[in-house]
Amino acid sequence: MNLSPFKLDRRTKIVATLGPASQEPAVMRRLVEAGVNVFRLNFSHGTREAQRALYETVRQIEAEIGRPLSILMDLQGPKLRIGTFAEGPIHLQTGATFTLYLNARKGDKEGVTLPHPEIFEVLRSGHELLLDDGKLRLKVTNTAEPGVAVTEVLVGGALSDRKGVNVPQTQLPISALTEKDRADLAFGLELGVDWVALSFVQRPEDIIEAKQLIGDRAGVLAKLEKPSALDNLEEIIELSDAVMVARGDLGVELPPERVPMIQKRIVSLARHHGRPVIVATQMLESMINAPVPTRAEASDVATAIYDGADAVMLSAETAAGKYPLEAVEVMGRIISETEKDLRSRHVLKADPLSDEESTDADVIAYAASQIASVRHCKAIVTFTSTGSTTVRAARVRGDVPILGLTPSLQVSRKLALVWGVYSVQTRDVVSFSDMVGKAVRMVQRKGFAEQGDRIVVTAGVPFGKPGTTNVLRLAMVSSEYGKP
Ligand code: PGA
Ligand code: MN
Repeated sequence: MNLSPFKLDRRTKIVATLGPASQEPAVMRRLVEAGVNVFRLNFSHGTREAQRALYETVRQIEAEIGRPLSILMDLQGPKLRIGTFAEGPIHLQTGATFTLYLNARKGDKEGVTLPHPEIFEVLRSGHELLLDDGKLRLKVTNTAEPGVAVTEVLVGGALSDRKGVNVPQTQLPISALTEKDRADLAFGLELGVDWVALSFVQRPEDIIEAKQLIGDRAGVLAKLEKPSALDNLEEIIELSDAVMVARGDLGVELPPERVPMIQKRIVSLARHHGRPVIVATQMLESMINAPVPTRAEASDVATAIYDGADAVMLSAETAAGKYPLEAVEVMGRIISETEKDLRSRHVLKADPLSDEESTDADVIAYAASQIASVRHCKAIVTFTSTGSTTVRAARVRGDVPILGLTPSLQVSRKLALVWGVYSVQTRDVVSFSDMVGKAVRMVQRKGFAEQGDRIVVTAGVPFGKPGTTNVLRLAMVSSEYGKP
């Protein structure tokens, strides 16, 4: 078995979505060997039993490989859908009238059910509705009768059962968590997922609500795919533990030409606040059917690296495509090549610290990174109980790998998503010399440094107390600290 070594040759992480194309344990093992750090369980599809089987296989591979793997459960969220048609798919003519009804009725050329009362509360004449990922467009012309919205077809086409509906111009009075999401969430937390992704987040309250339910059992990741989330972007980012640029739905709700600019804005704000950020969707889309990417796709992955994303994500490429393994390998190679470019190192540098916003962990991380560069240290070792110190160190986007040592298994797994971070679960240190000794032994054991190399160690004294990073130690790797 050729499981990949603990230390990969790149900083940016890979998220792979599991599905029919990758559910076999042998395939998943090869994806991990190719460098996957985080697996996404997509709760829009698949049964609970299938999700449980995927979860357990990931944990088994993790135990074999000895490198923490993160599991991200992605909740479906309030995805709106039309009802069904009596006699199969219909064809909507551009310019025709088409009516949406709250109450159940069999669909036909005249209209179809839209079984979401919240939408009728906010729909007004002039609003546009997008059907089937934006392929069809309707414009509301009359909402005089309660539970009925008359529309004009702006862009026609074929329409079939249960197609998705996007309403970009309105903030819907619905929570980001549906009944199904709440039940799925309880199931996922019971399994032990590390991250929970919330779909169609609209406002800061959505994150607050989810955090109340989740507590510290998993990290909360906001998927940014609604225009209304962009109106509250900074607050949503600060409340979340991580975010995703969910370009699929974002590019339906907004014109695609705005997506690149929004991607840059989100990545830069997330980095400013030290929140891990994933760039997602259609990154290597053509690899669903082909073993090689287009040049434009290679360029798109590279752009996310240059922007400074923590992770890039594969969706249908690994979940339902013909070449899941090739997609991960290609993505890994694009990341490695791009990270070799000095230009990428330069653009990645963090914003300077400001005295209003910086914490003790930030200034220590910044100093650690400077020292590591100038003194050619091989790694920065961070002792962390919640993971937050390690995330602050990653925020700097420095030159050397960051090793996060934590007593919490879950924290070690969560950190697999974060740029430049390797993590290990290990017992807490109790003294200063214990701290240096453990750091020195661990960097050797994990292949980061050898005798005679320098490392930087950060920790908080008193040991084991969260939120106290206040110590920086420059250490030489030597045998005086015992065998690795
Ligand atoms: P999805 O989210 O794949 O769950 O829709 C990602 C996106 O919309 O880009
Ligand atoms: Mn989406």
